Amino acid sequence: MEEIHEYIDDHWMEAVEDLKRFCRQPGISAQGTGIDESVEFLVELMREYGIQTEVLPGEGFPFIYGELPGESRVTLLFYNHYDVQPPEPLELWSTPPFEPTVYDGNLRARGVSDDKGDIVARLLAIRAYLEKRGTLPVSVKFIIEGEEEIGSPHVAAFVEKHHDLLHADACIWECGGVNWKNQPVIHLGLKGMLYVQLEARGASTDLHSSMATVVPNPAWRLTWALNSIKDLDENIRIEGFYDDVRPPADEERRLIDSISLDEEETRQALSLDRFVRGVTGFEYKARHILEPTCNICGLDSGYTGPGSKTVLPNVARAKIDFRLVPDQRYDDILARLRRHLDSNGFEDILIDPQTEGENPARTPLDSPFVSVVAEAAREVYGLDPVLVPSMAGSGPMYSFAHTLRLPTALIGVAYPGSSPHAPDEHIRLADFVLNAKHIAAVLQNMTSYRQASGKPQGVP
Ligand SMILES: [Zn+2]
Repeated sequence: MEEIHEYIDDHWMEAVEDLKRFCRQPGISAQGTGIDESVEFLVELMREYGIQTEVLPGEGFPFIYGELPGESRVTLLFYNHYDVQPPEPLELWSTPPFEPTVYDGNLRARGVSDDKGDIVARLLAIRAYLEKRGTLPVSVKFIIEGEEEIGSPHVAAFVEKHHDLLHADACIWECGGVNWKNQPVIHLGLKGMLYVQLEARGASTDLHSSMATVVPNPAWRLTWALNSIKDLDENIRIEGFYDDVRPPADEERRLIDSISLDEEETRQALSLDRFVRGVTGFEYKARHILEPTCNICGLDSGYTGPGSKTVLPNVARAKIDFRLVPDQRYDDILARLRRHLDSNGFEDILIDPQTEGENPARTPLDSPFVSVVAEAAREVYGLDPVLVPSMAGSGPMYSFAHTLRLPTALIGVAYPGSSPHAPDEHIRLADFVLNAKHIAAVLQNMTSYRQASGKPQGVP
């Protein structure tokens, strides 16, 4: 491994130049800008790094597939995305978001932490092996989508269709890094997502508010419906909502207890007196990592401008996201939400899903792959990694963890100050180098993975 790490130490600056070129490509999926150019650029870049790469059209923006056979047929699959979040508000950036800027050992650009830095760190680790040994210890595959930042609506169908092509033994996800203490953090799951709009309709048009004597007001209808969904103690009242929530295993409880989530710093930074239900300590962490949510993202009805306008609106809408945890299913929760509204007298409230749903996924702590990634982290960072059962966020991991049956771990180049999705997104270049070495060590340690997992040798 020594020579591999040395290569990375000697050549990371060249990879950073490639990362800067990549970050000049906008690739904003929400706005549909720069997609073709991003695809073209990344395909070319992956080929420069020795990966056999092709573009596979999906129903939405294209997928990029890459592979490189190694000495062993044990195969590690990398999941990434080439799209980025919109850069607005532009005036809050210290330098333009698509003009990558190096300052104080950092690199600032939209997409650099989420997740172009991850992609290039992976490429750098691969190049180190090819240059020093002429081959990789294990085989690798890449699947890189272009719609992660808009909810990955086409990943599930794509994975179903390309099941054989994507066959692998384990998966490294995008998005991860170190905590404030510079310990490597390994997340093992993502929550799922159901995003709906609820709509109440009243009269055929807005009316003079004096008509409120006799004309039903959809804003009240919606308010009453929302009120039935969650109580004042933050319990979600949809019948059976919690039925499939997996209780934490003892090992998960122990891990969560040992994690530091900067609770007090977060509370103060957000100017909050208390968190939901007043949770602190273990309850705070367990709630954040393991619990599902029902969150109102937006409410809209009638007149909300300055001053007064006495109006009786004819429509009211709420956008709601549910973050789901194993073993909840988004289609089941959607059906339960419909039944809940109907049985509470709200048959008139329309439910309109706003995105393709995502099911939650979590890799078991006792998976041998978790040991592989954790041991590699220990070797490179010289510190015990922090294992976290799940991120609080969502992603299309279910297709990989369940459809493809891959143990999956999230590691990456970010640190808690990276500001992904926000102005002045950046990474620390030292984290980029460490992550490339971590990836290299995972590739090396994967050679012993097949024995550990008990799968037969040589079967692709
Ligand atoms: Zn990402």
